[in-house]
Amino acid sequence: MSKPPPAPPAPAANFIRNVIEADLASGAYADRRWCGKPGTAAQQQAGAPDPAKVRTRFPPEPNGYLHYGHAKSICLNFGLARDFGGVCHMRFDDTNPTREEQEYVDGILEAVQWLGFGWQAFGASHQYFASDYFPWLYEFAERLIEAGDAYVDSQSAEEMRARRGTLTQTGEDSPYRGRSVAENLDLFRRMKAGEFADGAHVLRLKIDMQSPNINLRDPVAYRIRHAHHHRTGDAWCIYPMYDYTHGVSDALENVTHSICTLEFEDHRPLYDWLNEKLAALGLLNTPLPRQYEFSRLNLSYVVLSKRKLIQLVEEGHVAGWDDPRLPTLVGARRRGFTAEGFRLFAERIGVSKSDSWIDMSVLEECMREHLNEAAERRVAVLDPLKLIITNFAEGAVETCQAPNHPLHPELGKRDMPFTRELWIEREDFQEVPERGFHRLYPGNTVRLRYGFVVTCTGCEKDAAGNVVAVHAEYFADSKSGTPGADNYKTKGNLHWVSVAHAYAATVRLYDRLFAHPTPGARRAGDPPERERDFLEDINPDSLRVVTAQLEPLLRDAAPEQCFQFERHGYFVADRHDSQSGAPVFNRAVTLKDGWAQRSQP
Ligand code: ATP
Ligand code: MG
Repeated sequence: MSKPPPAPPAPAANFIRNVIEADLASGAYADRRWCGKPGTAAQQQAGAPDPAKVRTRFPPEPNGYLHYGHAKSICLNFGLARDFGGVCHMRFDDTNPTREEQEYVDGILEAVQWLGFGWQAFGASHQYFASDYFPWLYEFAERLIEAGDAYVDSQSAEEMRARRGTLTQTGEDSPYRGRSVAENLDLFRRMKAGEFADGAHVLRLKIDMQSPNINLRDPVAYRIRHAHHHRTGDAWCIYPMYDYTHGVSDALENVTHSICTLEFEDHRPLYDWLNEKLAALGLLNTPLPRQYEFSRLNLSYVVLSKRKLIQLVEEGHVAGWDDPRLPTLVGARRRGFTAEGFRLFAERIGVSKSDSWIDMSVLEECMREHLNEAAERRVAVLDPLKLIITNFAEGAVETCQAPNHPLHPELGKRDMPFTRELWIEREDFQEVPERGFHRLYPGNTVRLRYGFVVTCTGCEKDAAGNVVAVHAEYFADSKSGTPGADNYKTKGNLHWVSVAHAYAATVRLYDRLFAHPTPGARRAGDPPERERDFLEDINPDSLRVVTAQLEPLLRDAAPEQCFQFERHGYFVADRHDSQSGAPVFNRAVTLKDGWAQRSQP
């Protein structure tokens, strides 16, 4: 009988939870209707009461792989929906035809599911694509033109920029701002029909060129782009802009709480302006969604910028998007980081409105916490040195037993063959011991964990003076778990693997990719002209590959199975490179944080 899993920690309160609780208490969204899929006001009103108490969404652009920062957003949006009886929509914000690909769509879906979330709820799939809304977005644009709220601008990009003003200077109206509805409609239809080249015209929302908020100075809603789209092909040559698409997509999907990162705070007035206009025209269902902003994840020792991640991959600093050192979720998975660890991390760092940096050790500690609970223990000798038990019969095998998990005795024990020749860690022997060294040195007695007590009698060296084998004698009545074992008191307790039984495996010792908390940032003492590149801060020891001697059972490890290698850390059987019967192991994280002392910039 296995113990029930520990109860998950109660979700910490945060300002978004408070908003949702207040909205639920006041019934703000209680009367919404939902026709079973995204739709206009008329379609939604013809539907039944919305079974979802709240609707959130996770809206990535399918132009890359998801990273640790996205995990925060995923845990937040899907977690809120789960906790409040709602659903989180998996929406692809795919309105930019040139940068998006099916490969990224597939990668994103896989990552969200790997994190433990799904978009199936109330008997339906809630996977959506903003590109499916192109017909509505176009129709709404025509309605806005008719209402006098949008116009076709024919200025060049430079002219538009020059008239936009700055943070301290208001903008200036476009000479085309006064075009008639008929002329605007005609031009916009001809834009759609493909009569004009890229950049010849744009559709702008007519808001306020004097607004202190630059986002409200007649933002562009549509641009001409003769480009092939990964889903709509060549059906369109005009594409809607992010700000025009995003809020409308939320409203079409009956989203209640639209949660985004802080840089969109200044876009909120535009989000509200547009949705309120379209609702007033009877096009969008009400009550309208509301946008809330939280601070994005910044992690020390990690770069999360898509541009920098692309550079690391394309210039070959790492082996690909799923290199275990990259902060992508495919990389994390290969590394042996777990979905549970990410969910714990998201819970622990919480959600706030102020920008802050989280230390990488917080994420690593969350992985340790989960792996300590989940991973069975195994023995691995990473830097093997031979130990010969000179008074142990050649060819004899004593079967020892080791517990699979000290926290879970119900997981039982496994057999470990003990023989005359064993592998031990090279660092566990010193011919002349330094002060405080309690492991093997001539004359010292230690316990071979789960096995016998031995006394070191000397060592063998090669011509160059390198130690090639250590000698010891064992005490036949000292076997762990037998009545005689307690008679021996030792300070050292070493791990070992039988030479005749060991599995020699490739083990990759991964460490942080960057050796500095803020890669590429200026350091105290840098001369003013000194410019740093983040690549300068790459950790030269971020990967070490060794041939280790592992206990024989590890030969059967399944891809993605995680273990604690005693005294070393948590390791996973690589999901791509592990052949059946010959797994390769990656180190996810060491047992203890070795970076705390090094963290001083
Ligand atoms: P881009 O530069 O391409 O816009 P992005 O990192 O914003 O990159 P998106 O695909 O637009 O990528 O992001 C999807 C969602 O993930 C957005 O809602 C965004 O707010 C959120 N997100 C992205 N980066 C972080 C981060 N570091 N911390 C928290 N949330 C993030
Ligand atoms: Mg973005």
